[in-house]
Amino acid sequence: MIRNNVQLKYAMKRKSCEDEEAIKLLQLSKEEQTEPQGDQEDEELIIAEYESDDESKTKSRFSATEEDDDLVEEHVTKIYYCSRTHSQLAQFVHEVQKSPFSKDISLVTLGSRQNLCINDEVRRLGSSQRINDRCLEMQKNKHDKHQEEGVKRKRGPAKSVCPYNKATALQQMRDDVLGKVHDIEQMLKLGRETHSCPYYATRLSVPPAQLVVLPYQILLHEATRKAAGIQLKDQVVIIDEAHNLSDTLSCIHSAELTGAQLCRAHSQLTQYSDRYKSRLKAKNLMYIKQILFVVEGLVRVLGGKVGQNPQTQTTQTGTEMLTINNFLFKAQIDNINLFKLPRYFEKSLISRKLGGFVEKYAGSGVSLHTQNSIKENRRTEGLNRYLQTLQSNQSTTPADQQGSEAEKVLSASPMMQVEGFFMALTNSNTDGRVVVQKQGTVSESSVKFLLLNPAVHFAQVLEQCRAVIIAGGTMQPVSDFKQELLFSAGVAEERITEFSCGHVIPPENILPLVLCSGPSGQELDFTFQSRDTPRMMDETGRILSNICNVVPGGVVCFFPSYEYSRRIVSHWEASGALSRLANKKKIFQEPKKANQVEQVLSEFSRCIQRCAADPGGLTGALLFSVVGGKMSEGINFSDDLGRCVVMVGMPYPNIKSPELQEKMSYLDKHLPHNGGKSPGQALIENQCMKAVNQSIGRAIRHRGDYSSIVLCDRRYARPATLSKLPEWIKERTSTHTTFGPAFAALRKVRFFLEKKQKQV
Ligand code: SF4
Repeated sequence: MIRNNVQLKYAMKRKSCEDEEAIKLLQLSKEEQTEPQGDQEDEELIIAEYESDDESKTKSRFSATEEDDDLVEEHVTKIYYCSRTHSQLAQFVHEVQKSPFSKDISLVTLGSRQNLCINDEVRRLGSSQRINDRCLEMQKNKHDKHQEEGVKRKRGPAKSVCPYNKATALQQMRDDVLGKVHDIEQMLKLGRETHSCPYYATRLSVPPAQLVVLPYQILLHEATRKAAGIQLKDQVVIIDEAHNLSDTLSCIHSAELTGAQLCRAHSQLTQYSDRYKSRLKAKNLMYIKQILFVVEGLVRVLGGKVGQNPQTQTTQTGTEMLTINNFLFKAQIDNINLFKLPRYFEKSLISRKLGGFVEKYAGSGVSLHTQNSIKENRRTEGLNRYLQTLQSNQSTTPADQQGSEAEKVLSASPMMQVEGFFMALTNSNTDGRVVVQKQGTVSESSVKFLLLNPAVHFAQVLEQCRAVIIAGGTMQPVSDFKQELLFSAGVAEERITEFSCGHVIPPENILPLVLCSGPSGQELDFTFQSRDTPRMMDETGRILSNICNVVPGGVVCFFPSYEYSRRIVSHWEASGALSRLANKKKIFQEPKKANQVEQVLSEFSRCIQRCAADPGGLTGALLFSVVGGKMSEGINFSDDLGRCVVMVGMPYPNIKSPELQEKMSYLDKHLPHNGGKSPGQALIENQCMKAVNQSIGRAIRHRGDYSSIVLCDRRYARPATLSKLPEWIKERTSTHTTFGPAFAALRKVRFFLEKKQKQV
């Protein structure tokens, strides 16, 4: 019945959308709000359009779309379900497929072009920015082709268009998508079979869909949300895996610019304005001059000058944290209206045009200044960086954000990063800070906008929706979360309902132990002062060796940082402890590159299977991993892959980081103190325990799973720390001041496991 209503509704709507051109115009105009394009042909048209403040006089294709507002479909009441990674979303879709609702629900999964494009020529371009650029360019070519119908082409080769973007096929695919629940893989298959683009078909499916499944950043970033055609008014939003929601919001809305990017943007815009000077109207020239002036100011803050090679200009190393207003004064740009510049960027599409200008004229006198591009692209602007984490379920952690994946993002127009930074500067003075980091040369130095109050952006979601459900397996402690994201966004306590339930596994299937000392009686103290001592490292080796002796299958050992992992493993190598461990388990280490994660995991898994079938001396495999690394989130060590998770020390964030210190002092100033503890101090502890909870949660993945969890550090025994473990782990945790009883408990587990295996 529901489906019939939906189909009837959009059959009626389809009638009003029969004009192919109108659909194209709608698509194009939505994309152009945020996405880059590399074409320059419409230079005069767009500029002329911006020239006219009187929108009714505008005759361009962009204003035409505004007149067609009545073609926009009405959105049915729906649920937006969002999660962090595509694999989590796929998992959710598979559960819906298995459920009794699957026959009655219209579901659509949204993704980026990188996930949904089926044009191999475009996919081959690799980076999401290039794919976006090329796709939009082809849209525009198609639009131009329609306009040129009947008019003989004056010059130049024929422009290519995407064969998968035909309105009738898209509408058909939309019907197919809504008629049956598909995951992304199935949609790609359907798109290839029907020769229609899943990216656009899914976007057309949003208004009539009852359940829209999408990654975080499409929902949480206002411009991206608008571009995807999402309307939150009176809808229901479910945010899953929300334990890092605050960090995610901050990351998406932060922006960073290097000196090299600034100099490159300045150089390109200068060349652009020189070339088009005679065609640009006075108002456009004025805005371009203002942008150049602001960029000049930013380079000056970094101790450099535009027009000179940023790699040879040296600066004194140091970090400075400034409020937005102080930063504007320091850069001497406080006289510029920064609220008008983002509007100019948006209307004139100058960043995208600059990208196209550079591509078109590269080699003909226009300087790309790309010598340092790969290095710079490691520091892409906040949203881009976050998008990179979603390219695969393995590349999901902050550690990856600096990794090789980011190197793929090639930006012909650094002005896009500049645009993002200008936008960030329009935040309220109290909600953010600017970090000026000088690193020897202007090229390497950077300015970074740091969002301190993510509630301002979350408030938009909370205000519009009928209900927002924030869910996660490791949401503890909830009080700070409520304070930072809900109360700060103006939500009253009485509007919040909390619900918590236990884990699906029976309590006897986990054995969480807190170890306060090792086999030789050495107290386990992994504080900064003592963790590097040989006796601590040796004792940790002995603990692991004992665990590997009694636990079958896979053991995953988490270290608090890459650096510590490197130090302790080299110590064990030198002392012989590593080879003793290797006699019992084959040793694997978390790879440095995200794209190697899958390979390491499958070898780890194969080794465990081999050992189970034919031990031959080895009882399984041992994996060294890092908290917050590539394997601490989004990867499952279910069943034999993780029969024991060992946590070495407590992964506190780096308290010396100026950014963290600023965030702490912001929280101390704006949030109430709780139980005698400052909100800043609570933030540090919560970050640490959330990371621990994420890592230890990797081992228990389904109802029949079982595993032991060994927390090595006496500090875990503190009641305040224990209280931050998830309820289902906390209630089973036992603290051991000596190693003997803990080891006996583990041996019992072994017995339990064998019994369980016999039962199977
Ligand atoms: S229209 Fe679709 S298939 Fe074609 S290039 Fe764009 S995203 Fe790819």
